[in-house]
Amino acid sequence: MRGIPASDPAPGVPSARPAPYGAHESDSLGRIHGEAPASHRGEYRRDRERIIHSTAFRRLEYKTQLFVNHEGDLYRTRLTHSIEVAQVARSTAYRLGLNEPLCEAIALAHDLGHTPFGHAGQDALNRCMQSHGGFEHNLQSLRVVDRLELKYPQFPGLNLTFETREGILKHCSKKNARTLGPVAQRFLERTQPSLEAQLANIADEIAYTSHDIDDGLRADLITVPRLREVELFGQHFDAVEREFPQLRARRKTYETIRRIRKRLAADLIEASQAAIDDAGVDSIDAVRAHPEPLVRFSESMREKNQALKNFLREHLYRHERVHRMNREAAKVVADLYGAFFEADHRMPDEYQGMAREAADRDGDSGRARVVSDYIAGMTDRYAISEHRRIFNEKIF
Ligand code: MG
Repeated sequence: MRGIPASDPAPGVPSARPAPYGAHESDSLGRIHGEAPASHRGEYRRDRERIIHSTAFRRLEYKTQLFVNHEGDLYRTRLTHSIEVAQVARSTAYRLGLNEPLCEAIALAHDLGHTPFGHAGQDALNRCMQSHGGFEHNLQSLRVVDRLELKYPQFPGLNLTFETREGILKHCSKKNARTLGPVAQRFLERTQPSLEAQLANIADEIAYTSHDIDDGLRADLITVPRLREVELFGQHFDAVEREFPQLRARRKTYETIRRIRKRLAADLIEASQAAIDDAGVDSIDAVRAHPEPLVRFSESMREKNQALKNFLREHLYRHERVHRMNREAAKVVADLYGAFFEADHRMPDEYQGMAREAADRDGDSGRARVVSDYIAGMTDRYAISEHRRIFNEKIF
């Protein structure tokens, strides 16, 4: 039996070729280390494939998004989060006439520098690194793709294009920007990144807001009645209930979340296209020179989305159970940092060697950076097992 034929592409859907304001490979600022062109697949697809084959990407499977990995098999991890971000980024990029492979590469790489245990892990590592330049996951994502992945004989890192690296570096202090060269220049000059980078950033927000509702409900940390008080959720939930009154609760919330994600994406496309048209930008250079970002929600959607984010912050991210996990996670990271910094023979041979070299070059701060790279690369469960091995103490 034949299925129902897929509908024809909607009229007005742009072609796969980027619009003039999108990123074109012919205008790329290139890679740090010279390489033969990636003629058959294109430069941004090559970036995407290098990211997918990296060790850091595979480790995202066992890193916390909101819940520590072993809490349950159905929760998002950093890997599934990154894939969801890539999906939102790709489909909205297509509608806006932006470069899809570039958007996808940025989305897949955006969390590569995350420590185990999510933000709690990052904050703890940052505290440990205070006198050695601090720790920030964005900068670490760039460090992973520029230096830490050792996969190719000709160069350290993945040697990604400037545009992918620019998108990975979402935020950066002026102090750090001064040390990073061209990729961070915009934080000193206050210019914008490509529209693809702007889009990947907002796709991250759309993805985590919608999947955190799902995970929060699944874990019973938030409830549908409370969520209904938030306009964006309430409005879509009511519509689903009117249309499908018999549907079981779980499917109602799935459908509500799907509609929220779709509505956010539709608003983003419409408002961004209007902003792009109004600004009259006709090249990536014009986008970079424009005084403000052009990928954005409409003002009313921005407010509704903010109200939903506020709800999640108050009721989910600050929930006592999440707090408890975070406190234990912070202890694991701080204990490991202390243990490795004090005695680097506790680290694998490779890292001991790097710590010695870094100490010769940059003293304690060099050694601290190697310890921080080692810890940041750990998965949740590896960090827990290392902690158990060294301290023989049961945490989690
Ligand atoms: Mg993210």
